[in-house]
Amino acid sequence: MPRILLVEDETDIADTVRYALETAGFGVDHAPTAGEAESLASAGRHELAILDIGLPDIDGLELCRRLRRHRDLPVIFLTAQAGEIDRILGLELGADDYVTKPFSPRELVARVRVVLRRGQRQAEPPSRAGGFEHDLAGRRIRYRGQLLDLTRYEYGLLAALLQRPGAVLSRGQLMDRVWGDALESGDRTVDTHVKTLRAKLRSAAGDAEPDAIRTHRGLGYSLDVEAGPA
Ligand code: CA
Repeated sequence: MPRILLVEDETDIADTVRYALETAGFGVDHAPTAGEAESLASAGRHELAILDIGLPDIDGLELCRRLRRHRDLPVIFLTAQAGEIDRILGLELGADDYVTKPFSPRELVARVRVVLRRGQRQAEPPSRAGGFEHDLAGRRIRYRGQLLDLTRYEYGLLAALLQRPGAVLSRGQLMDRVWGDALESGDRTVDTHVKTLRAKLRSAAGDAEPDAIRTHRGLGYSLDVEAGPA
């Protein structure tokens, strides 16, 4: 039974959504605050999160960023105003979907099913690409068969690139995804970690291998999955 993390401070809405999800065969953990959501999410047993944007402690967008720092959790936002939709899209958080209040619980359940199906389709191929083997649950990455010994931030960077092989991610997007609101920040933070990451990839694959991380001047970085034998 897939478990959903539901973060919503309005009891009526939370009860309605919980009932609809449970009727549809989902397990539901409900948190009325972002703080409680973070501790529930730390067990890593949810397949999707439904996040209200207006929460009493931190907002749903910031919560999304924090949850995604540990793993790539599919997220559907609940929004109360059109302005919030612009913020979701503007922040490039990679929201999987959003629904605007008031919404029909049946429609929300349908969206949940679509997002989960999409996730299942994508789960297999990206976990093995261009010589990389990504064990998401164990937060481990192998390259050319060798387990990489990565720091938390190197892992985050490589995982973000692996999630969308070939796509160019800007330094800002990588900062947001990997460092979130950490104090250490600035463009050079990303560059420094890319440098150490490249060195580790080289030592795993040998100097003859082409560089798997490609620099796009003024744009950012991408993972070159065509670089070598898969
Ligand atoms: Ca609210």
